[in-house]
Amino acid sequence: MDSKSFLAALNPDSMVVKPSHRVRLKDFDPGFTGDFKKKEAKALLQQGVEELARYQDMLYAQNTYALLLIFQAMDAAGKDSTIKHVMSGINPQGCQVYSFKQPSVEELDHDYLWRSFKALPERGNIGIFNRSYYEEVLVVRVRPELLAQQQLPLSTRGDHIWQQRFEEINNFEKYLVSNGIVVMKFFLNVSKEEQKNRFLDRIDRPEKNWKFSVADVKERGRWDDYMAAYEDMFSHTSTPWAPWHIIPADSKWFTRLAVASFIHQKLKSLNLAYPVLEDNHLERLREARVMLEREGE
Ligand code: ATP
Ligand code: MG
Repeated sequence: MDSKSFLAALNPDSMVVKPSHRVRLKDFDPGFTGDFKKKEAKALLQQGVEELARYQDMLYAQNTYALLLIFQAMDAAGKDSTIKHVMSGINPQGCQVYSFKQPSVEELDHDYLWRSFKALPERGNIGIFNRSYYEEVLVVRVRPELLAQQQLPLSTRGDHIWQQRFEEINNFEKYLVSNGIVVMKFFLNVSKEEQKNRFLDRIDRPEKNWKFSVADVKERGRWDDYMAAYEDMFSHTSTPWAPWHIIPADSKWFTRLAVASFIHQKLKSLNLAYPVLEDNHLERLREARVMLEREGE
């Protein structure tokens, strides 16, 4: 993939949230597909997938950086299928996916970042968070009964908790990035109309029934509250070290292409390289070759 012209055609500036910028989601079009056609996008994605595999191999060999990919979205925005397609060329040995659900009793007895710490990728690996600690300023904000379960000290209860969490998250990510864990955050921006179509599809197609839960419709009923929580979150947690990407998600083929290209661009910027062996190591390789060739002589 010629990433330069490709990214230019994607118009990345329209998808990256500038730090300290007040975000209004109405300025982001979920239906945006640039000048791309579906067929062309699919072919480009295929090339992108191959490139990602090449970079992952170097990431793993170099063992200096880890890549943490965070996906947040409303239901049916396509998180699972984006992960599946964009990562389809990746070596499973160097990649882990964590899907964060409602916290368990044990998790609730810890601070809210605890379970994320445990799930961080090790150097050389790609870690994918399908939902993440950002739920702590989204669903937990929209549904106050979830916050009440957290047994927090009195001093943290009150509206200032969200600002406090934004700062904690920014500091956490700064810590990760300065320790070689590169953080990329993607919000898959699906429209309310398209979510309805996808829910109806999940109801109508038996092989998709399992993906649908009546609770999803209840969450949909809180759409405006979620959008307000998302906007506040983007406005406070898009930082120079870990900016948010707001990816149009009404066309799945475009979502996949955009996500793949941002990851590709990031990996490229790391100047990854295979470790160069020192002379004495090379000498040992030559000796091993001789030993192998002499076997059975
Ligand atoms: P699918 O696309 O298959 O529905 P999903 O990510 O929605 O995938 P579910 O099992 O349906 O998975 O939902 C997980 C639920 O867990 C979501 O409703 C999410 O808001 C909730 N959740 C995740 N993290 C937290 C958290 N820290 N506190 C409270 N709820 C959380
Ligand atoms: Mg769900």
